[in-house]
Amino acid sequence: MKYSTIIIGSGPAGYTAALYTGRAGMKPLMIDGGIGRGQELLGAGGQLMITTEVENYPGFVHGIQGPELMQIMREQALRFDVEVVEDIANQVDMSQRPFKVWVGDASYESDTLIIATGASAKWIGLPEEKPAHEGGLGGKGVSACATCDGFFFRGREVAVVGGGDTAMEEAVYLTNHASKVTVIHRRDTLRASKIMQKRAMDNQKIHFVWDSVVERIHDPAEGCVTALTLRNLKSGATSVLPVQGLFVAIGHKPNTDLFRGQLDLDETGYIVTHHDVRTSVCGVFACGDVQDSEYRQAISAAGSGCMAAIQAERFLEAEKAGDTSVHGSW
Ligand code: NAP
Repeated sequence: MKYSTIIIGSGPAGYTAALYTGRAGMKPLMIDGGIGRGQELLGAGGQLMITTEVENYPGFVHGIQGPELMQIMREQALRFDVEVVEDIANQVDMSQRPFKVWVGDASYESDTLIIATGASAKWIGLPEEKPAHEGGLGGKGVSACATCDGFFFRGREVAVVGGGDTAMEEAVYLTNHASKVTVIHRRDTLRASKIMQKRAMDNQKIHFVWDSVVERIHDPAEGCVTALTLRNLKSGATSVLPVQGLFVAIGHKPNTDLFRGQLDLDETGYIVTHHDVRTSVCGVFACGDVQDSEYRQAISAAGSGCMAAIQAERFLEAEKAGDTSVHGSW
């Protein structure tokens, strides 16, 4: 069966693209990512499924839980003739139109593609980082997003792991809320740009622990973060740092393995877009975190999902009207 558009991924970008293409009568097919398997494979709903309180998504005066927000987005999108395959796309052929997407042995064809597969935060790999329902402290003091969760640490002491720009940015941002921010870095020099290093080093609230890694997060038994066990990689010595929050900022990985070799990706693996959401392949659009390493917010992802849907609709309308200039202007 051939669709006018297939949306791969179901975070805020994917659901918004589904909502708009569905309302436009395009009868989209969404491949939603299926059931998540924790932080390694997020599944339907994406990163917000492992977030707790979301206070910065407009429209929710008192905030909303991440999974609830995604459930609402899903229900709203599915009001409008959106077909859903509850699984993972495991192969894509963009070499010619119609494009082809495989889910297991089943294949689907479409005139346009909207890629909204998102990104995943990289984690240290400690069991305590897992979400609360898996016995960890993820969403209960352990976070990968200071903009999302920093507010909950007003007047408290927190730690940030990482030595790149993201870690410096998160640390500086957290000083708006926390009383003390300790950056834990595995080497004795930062990877971050000079300007970000200076901003962090000049901030009186930020302290650094060098050559060290987090070995353990306390205390899942209490259901909250109370301290970290650190290990100095040079001396081997361990120490305990009392904190109420841990922000892991060791990078994000865009979920683009499926498209490698078919679409232009930047050096860190993000899909390169022009005209906001157009990829290097005519008729293929990308929205949300898979093409955005800068903002990475639910609202900006939703906004770009809207743009991808509108551009896909206009692209198909122009083709239908015999206007081939859409190909030239790509
Ligand atoms: P990044 O540059 O790859 O830095 C990751 C940091 O985490 C590095 O310091 C790395 O240590 C550390 N790290 C990696 N794996 C680790 C592990 N398992 N345990 C402990 N530490 C670990 O990632 P990023 O900071 O997210 O930045 C990604 C890109 O976005 C960069 O190009 C960056 O410049 C850009 N960015 C720019 C801005 C800005 O300009 N405002 C803001 C954010 C990000 P090592 O240094 O030892 O490798």
